[in-house]
Amino acid sequence: MDKNQFYKHLENNGINLTDKQKDQFKKYFQLVFYWNERINLTAITDEDEFYTKHFYDSIATSFYFDFKNVKSICDVGSGAGFPSIPLKIIYPHLEVTIVDSLNKRIKFLNLLAEELDLKDCIFVHGRAEDFGQKDNFRESFDVVTARAVARLNVLSELCIPLVKLDGYFLSLKAQKCNEEKLEASKAINVLGGILESDDLFYVEGEERHILKIRKNKRTTKKYPRKAGTPNKNPIL
Ligand code: SAM
Repeated sequence: MDKNQFYKHLENNGINLTDKQKDQFKKYFQLVFYWNERINLTAITDEDEFYTKHFYDSIATSFYFDFKNVKSICDVGSGAGFPSIPLKIIYPHLEVTIVDSLNKRIKFLNLLAEELDLKDCIFVHGRAEDFGQKDNFRESFDVVTARAVARLNVLSELCIPLVKLDGYFLSLKAQKCNEEKLEASKAINVLGGILESDDLFYVEGEERHILKIRKNKRTTKKYPRKAGTPNKNPIL
């Protein structure tokens, strides 16, 4: 979708962008486009596709989950900032923490936040496994998001320990989501979560799911296990 279709789709969902927000999205694309030649940030460089697959896809989370009363969000493995930075542009009140294991992406995010004048953003270089064991971050976020980082059982171990009790882990998934849901049912339960809903929608004919997992029990201190273990030896 081009920019105007993007604005229209958001309007149809009750989001009317201000000129400042339209400018922030424009600058965001330009910065990724510029830095992508120097550091690998995304495979998508066509502007219309970027607006669809990065901006619209990220914001679509808010059609199924109300961010108005959310204070803090943590985005695990956000790469060039998806989905949390487009959500931050729409909901400036959000306190955003991003943890990503690639430092060049963290450096890019610092520059991006500066250029887009985004306040209350913290970008941490590290593994979610280590981050989730730190007392000041563990079980501290209202919402944890993740898109395209790992299979749901592995991802649950990276994300659920960071969610505060009664908070939510929102997992953005594409096709084959049902398979992942089945495979992850034990992990979600062991980590203290419960799958409340799976909202299915289509973006230009492609399947998308927003999985809403509520944290209904504290996560035992054993999780997340040390960096690399969730992937090598997933909870099954
Ligand atoms: N979420 C973004 C998106 O949807 O465009 C980026 C997806 S990219 C395929 C996966 C990102 O997750 C990479 O930036 C990678 O460095 C990060 N990542 C993978 N495993 C991680 C871990 N255990 N802890 C923190 N970041 C991780």
